Amino acid sequence: MIQVHQVSFSYDELSVLEKVSLRVERGEFAFLVGPSGSGKTTLLRLLYGDLAPLGGELNVVGQQLAELNKVNLPYFRQKIGIVFQDFKLLRDKTVKENLALPQKLAGTAPRLLKDNVNEILHQMGLSHHQHARPSEISNNERRKLAIARAIINKPLLLIADAPTEGLDLRLSLEVMALLDALNFQGMTVFIATADRKLAEKCNKRIIELRDGAIHWDPSSASI
Ligand code: ADP
Ligand code: MG
Repeated sequence: MIQVHQVSFSYDELSVLEKVSLRVERGEFAFLVGPSGSGKTTLLRLLYGDLAPLGGELNVVGQQLAELNKVNLPYFRQKIGIVFQDFKLLRDKTVKENLALPQKLAGTAPRLLKDNVNEILHQMGLSHHQHARPSEISNNERRKLAIARAIINKPLLLIADAPTEGLDLRLSLEVMALLDALNFQGMTVFIATADRKLAEKCNKRIIELRDGAIHWDPSSASI
């Protein structure tokens, strides 16, 4: 599902990743753990083609990222759900409209779209805020909205950047339980977090990023 081979990346002079390799198989649930500034967001941006590597190869949901172009990029992105660290919600749209947009882009029939949006609003406890704008709900609710938007199209792969940042432990575990349930239904889940304790509580595979390299990965023998 995710294959990263000897990938390096720098922002100008600042080298962030050096020959990073990792694999996440279809159906897996894995954490990318590392302190703030260790390159987690950068690695995720490389995975969804927002940045291009300086060296190495990436293959995500069967797409060789070096072959991404204007034509296949939308198809590629359709297969992936992304929870951005800074939400990237549409400020001028309501909660409901933020959730409807990915369904519209995927060409979901209007009736089904309505059902799906209502279902996820209910699941996330956001129904009573459906007509509010992102600025009118709490930070916790915005994070839940960002997660809801990422999963509404039932992507093959969910890439989540610090999805529990700022949430208390109870809500963090609630979010993890939700992602675990989706994983059980077949969605591959890859979560970047600085919260090692939370990752450990979840009893899933942990890949550790430190100083621009994979420091610890129990499955690295398979690379
Ligand atoms: P993490 O998500 O683990 O906190 P990042 O990938 O955001 O780490 O950042 C890794 C390093 O790259 C940090 O030193 C950060 O300051 C730097 N960095 C991140 N984004 C940019 C950018 N757009 N331009 C320049 N430097 C950046
Ligand atoms: Mg980050």
